[in-house]
Amino acid sequence: EKIMADKNRAVVFHGVKDMRVDTLDFPKLEMPNGKKAPHGVIVKLIATNICGSDLHIYRGSFPAPEGMVMGHEMTGEVVEIGSDVEFLKPGDIVSVPFNVACGRCRNCRNGRTEVCETTNPEVSCAAYGFNLGGFAGGQAEYMFVPYADFQLLRFPDKDQAMEKILDLAVLSDILPTAFHGLVEAGVKPGSTVYIAGAGPVGRCGAAAARLLGASCIIVGDYYEDRLELVRRNGCETINLSKVDSINDGIEAILGTPYVDCAVDYVGNEAHGLGQEAEKTKSSYAINQVLDATRPGGATGIIGVYGANPISPVPAEREGIYSINFGDAWIKSPRIAGGQAPIMHYNRDLMMSILWNRMPYLSDMLNIKVISLDEAPQAYADFDEGSSLKYVTDPHGSIPAAQ
Ligand code: NAD
Ligand code: ZN
Ligand code: ZN
Repeated sequence: EKIMADKNRAVVFHGVKDMRVDTLDFPKLEMPNGKKAPHGVIVKLIATNICGSDLHIYRGSFPAPEGMVMGHEMTGEVVEIGSDVEFLKPGDIVSVPFNVACGRCRNCRNGRTEVCETTNPEVSCAAYGFNLGGFAGGQAEYMFVPYADFQLLRFPDKDQAMEKILDLAVLSDILPTAFHGLVEAGVKPGSTVYIAGAGPVGRCGAAAARLLGASCIIVGDYYEDRLELVRRNGCETINLSKVDSINDGIEAILGTPYVDCAVDYVGNEAHGLGQEAEKTKSSYAINQVLDATRPGGATGIIGVYGANPISPVPAEREGIYSINFGDAWIKSPRIAGGQAPIMHYNRDLMMSILWNRMPYLSDMLNIKVISLDEAPQAYADFDEGSSLKYVTDPHGSIPAAQ
């Protein structure tokens, strides 16, 4: 089935702090190396989000080629299918996991789609709209998705999906990602949890911690309006510019300086505590999260860490961070990092949303729907610490009531 459009408008990276909306060719069922992809589909985007991970590219801490189409958090309608696609049909509403995964390699077969061995063999990790495999992103009107039968999560009912589209839009990345961090940190009913970062991913972490039945959920950040979104939804907060030690901040709330589980939702542009709140150092958040965790506790590291070319510290430009391992080691820590395997969680979390088990999610997220043309400005506002989560609606298909 062919559709009428022959062009594709998309948000394109032109350099640090320079995103533009360009008109490109309509996507083909073709891999980045030009090989035909009859296992792929073309998706017409309904909701395509801007993420903190995009900010790393915007700021220059995660280098990307000029001309790359941005975006890795996509929800849309299947409009064209390759000849080998068996289970999807035009008209299906789907969530696209941000990891590009073949479904055929050793890791994919074990559910470890975040380290697919074939879609970007250089580092065994591929994502749309990243310098990871050359797959065009989805902050666009249309996009190509390979291995579609394997990768796409289809929503069971189109009308119901459109009613809940803004909650469902975070299934492509930030909700499953945040949930993964908590699972890695061993969160279960009754756990005390420290969440580093009140950006959209940290706020999803706070929501997911509630879903998992955590007891005391403490969120740390500097932006009061971001903290307010979680505070009014049952979480405790620490303004990190007002404490000199994370353990003091936790003790003031919990009566003990440690939590059971702590997760880094920050990444390598982290700020320090108290006097050092204006300073950045790539290892600040990891060390705070290790400090926060009790002996025998566990830690998840969801924030993105790689060689950071804009760091003032030469070692960090090589990807070498000063982790306070001596203090951590004696506590027998469990530390897990990496990209999240979205497919491992997205179906279950979709069911939680469809059955209204996370009624607090949308208030914590604070989504604003924007047009494609508004995306470059939204990057700038998000970079400045806006408490909104920006969701682009390239075709004007999201009902205004949301
Ligand atoms: P964001 O930039 O909006 O949020 C980061 C927040 O951390 C900001 O509010 C900032 O003020 C705060 N912060 C800075 N230093 C801190 C510190 N020391 N302690 C606590 N908070 C601190 O970004 P986001 O969209 O919420 O994403 C958060 C991180 O998660 C990013 O690094 C992003 O790349 C990463 N991420 C990882 C995956 C994955 O699969 N691992 C997926 C999605 C996003
Ligand atoms: Zn993302
Ligand atoms: Zn694979």
